[in-house]
Amino acid sequence: MENKKEMRAWLDDMKLNHPLVIAGPCSAETEEQVLKIAHELKDTDVNYFRAGIWKPRTRPGMFEGVGALGLKWLQKVKAETGMKVCTEVANAAHVKLALEHDIDMLWIGARSTVSPFIMQEIADALEGTEKPVLIKNPVNPDLALWLGGIERIYSSGVKNIGAIHRGFSTYEKTKFRNNPEWQMAIEFQNKFPDIPLINDPSHITGKRDMVFDISQIALDLNFDGLMIETHHDPENAWSDASQQVTPNMLIQMMRDLKVKKEAD
Ligand code: PEP
Ligand code: MN
Repeated sequence: MENKKEMRAWLDDMKLNHPLVIAGPCSAETEEQVLKIAHELKDTDVNYFRAGIWKPRTRPGMFEGVGALGLKWLQKVKAETGMKVCTEVANAAHVKLALEHDIDMLWIGARSTVSPFIMQEIADALEGTEKPVLIKNPVNPDLALWLGGIERIYSSGVKNIGAIHRGFSTYEKTKFRNNPEWQMAIEFQNKFPDIPLINDPSHITGKRDMVFDISQIALDLNFDGLMIETHHDPENAWSDASQQVTPNMLIQMMRDLKVKKEAD
């Protein structure tokens, strides 16, 4: 795909201090939980509040999200804190509902990016939206498949685009939940310098005590932002309990992370 400067416009137009920070719980659980976390993240460097409401769980029988009800909670977050909000969409119905509820940014999860059919369905539903759309890498380390997903979204007239590097599944056990394969992220940056690239250290590590180090590596590699799962009571989270950090941990991390000065 040719490089398209316009893809960065949404990020540049926000005149953000580098890097972009997206934070909030893996899953919206209750209205109280969502608002509590959002209020703790208000007035920090967090740019977007995240919460998953349709959860793509690997096995059935686990918590699969609160569904459309959570869109109302995200609207409350906007009204009460002034933060922008984002959530995951995994089919055309999700897209329609999220856009109707004026969710500020959408992301597409790793289990959706693997399927060209679902990516086309999502792309058609997004046609022409001005909202930024972030596309996570597919679960497997396949750069062409990731790019193909991005191209489908771009071709349906979505110009505000970003990519999220959340690591890749491996059969062998490693210290990571999803192996970062940094080489592929670097190849992505070199080939497509105009597509903002955001790192998701939470899903790469699977462990909160590794999130800082992976975030620092990503910033050293000039990533454009971080998506960090944040929960007021991580041990008791309904999904991804071992990787979420508390709002205080996140605030401390944002102070301690070293951001490289832009070269140009
Ligand atoms: C998430 O962001 O909570 C999520 C389900 O992520 P991924 O698609 O990277 O597994
Ligand atoms: Mn998660």
